[in-house]
Amino acid sequence: MSLTDIQARIAAAERAAGRAPGSVRLIAVSKVQPLARVEAVLAAGHRLFGENYVQEAQAKWPDLRARFGAVSVHMIGPLQTNKAKVAVELFDAIHTLDRPSLAEKLARLAEARGVCPELFVQVNTGAEPQKAGVLPEALDGFVADCRGMGLPLAGLMCIPPEGEDSTPHFHMLAKMAARNGLAGLSMGMSGDFEAAIAAGATHVRVGSAIFGARDYS
Ligand SMILES: *Cc1c(COP(=O)(O)O)cnc(C)c1O
Repeated sequence: MSLTDIQARIAAAERAAGRAPGSVRLIAVSKVQPLARVEAVLAAGHRLFGENYVQEAQAKWPDLRARFGAVSVHMIGPLQTNKAKVAVELFDAIHTLDRPSLAEKLARLAEARGVCPELFVQVNTGAEPQKAGVLPEALDGFVADCRGMGLPLAGLMCIPPEGEDSTPHFHMLAKMAARNGLAGLSMGMSGDFEAAIAAGATHVRVGSAIFGARDYS
């Protein structure tokens, strides 16, 4: 199955980069995939998944967790502030913290609940106008503000511009994480996860290479 292929390629990329075996976590991105494909990956023993839409995840994961036991689910899509409450109850990590209003909302929820998902700040490394994420020049200030609110920051996340070489974006993200004392690097998708691992990724988000193409129709 493709899952074992991807796991083998991740292990090879870790070795090639001189990194410890198991230092890269594979987030199997199951958004929009037919349930049978997700069940097959769960049956193969995988326990870390990524979703883009709160409503879709809410419809899917309570039942799958009841059937398969503890599963970590990470939110990797844009998060509306009015869905933040559901999100912190459903997800083990949020990779798309990208603005002060969301940080403030998450801080209030974390205080009320006493726990908070792991948080990654999304950086718009290509400064693309249509893309979410904190601009590179605003990142250090945003990280300091989040820490001032007591938010537990795990790392940074990026989605490099389509059709560009991802590697410079991965290196930029790694540098920004290092200078902010952040260990987590969520970067790399089906087409570029090996390059991301070479640049230091701790979490790769791989969908279609595991599950097959998504059908949005
Ligand atoms: C859909 C998605 C992925 C997975 O993309 P593939 O190319 O199918 O591996 C990874 N990260 C984010 C943020 C996504 O939205």
